Amino acid sequence: MARHGGGRSWYGKVVGAALGVTMLAVGASVYTAQAGVVNGTPQAGASAKPAAVQRVSPTIAHASDAGPRGVNITIDDGPDPRWTPQVLDLLREEGVKATFCLTGIQAQAHPDLVKEIVADGHVLCDHSVSHDTAMDRKSEAYQSKEILDAERMITKASGGVRPLYYRAPGGAFTPHSRAVAASRGMRPLGWNVDTKDFEQPGADSIVETVQRELPGGPTILFHDAGGDRAQTVEALRRVLPWLKEEGYSFGFPVR
Ligand SMILES: [Zn+2]
Repeated sequence: MARHGGGRSWYGKVVGAALGVTMLAVGASVYTAQAGVVNGTPQAGASAKPAAVQRVSPTIAHASDAGPRGVNITIDDGPDPRWTPQVLDLLREEGVKATFCLTGIQAQAHPDLVKEIVADGHVLCDHSVSHDTAMDRKSEAYQSKEILDAERMITKASGGVRPLYYRAPGGAFTPHSRAVAASRGMRPLGWNVDTKDFEQPGADSIVETVQRELPGGPTILFHDAGGDRAQTVEALRRVLPWLKEEGYSFGFPVR
């Protein structure tokens, strides 16, 4: 961690890079629009979402905005044309909102699914472009590109709705990646319950892991891509009603 140099130097680079990206991404229109409050074109300003980006804390969030009995359902690595629609159907039936951590590649490939996620009231999380779980051992420039390119790909696929969180693939956060994400309004997002559903341990095991580990914290990790996720769908079908019976409510991670 210390090899990043810490302190002001990298922080300045992050801010500079983020500003540069904003200007590249939105061009002169936002600046016209911002000035448009002065120039009398407030309508243009209303759609200038990048102007509304506010820095958030760079620390890794685990808590739920639904309070002490809240849980955060987080679903990673999609969207996937086979599994994401099944997960969305289930969440709809149960009336549960979740946080979807999307890779840039999957979001770009399946923009209709990203829009469906948003339309159902779920929130988006940047899960990097290519899901490189070794990105914490690569250059700061590479880390920035993975995060900021994914942010643009997801925002484009969603039709302009920004990701509110950044979850490093495999939890490979660095101080630099957290600062980059935070500078773009994306709160670094951890987890408390790793269901290990990607190992396909059986739906029973996935459910039991949630029941056993939930006292340790409210953010639960599932996957809707990267392999056969039938067990995940089946586990969600059982675990969501159980959570309700236990008096939990469903929220989003704190920002
Ligand atoms: Zn992942």
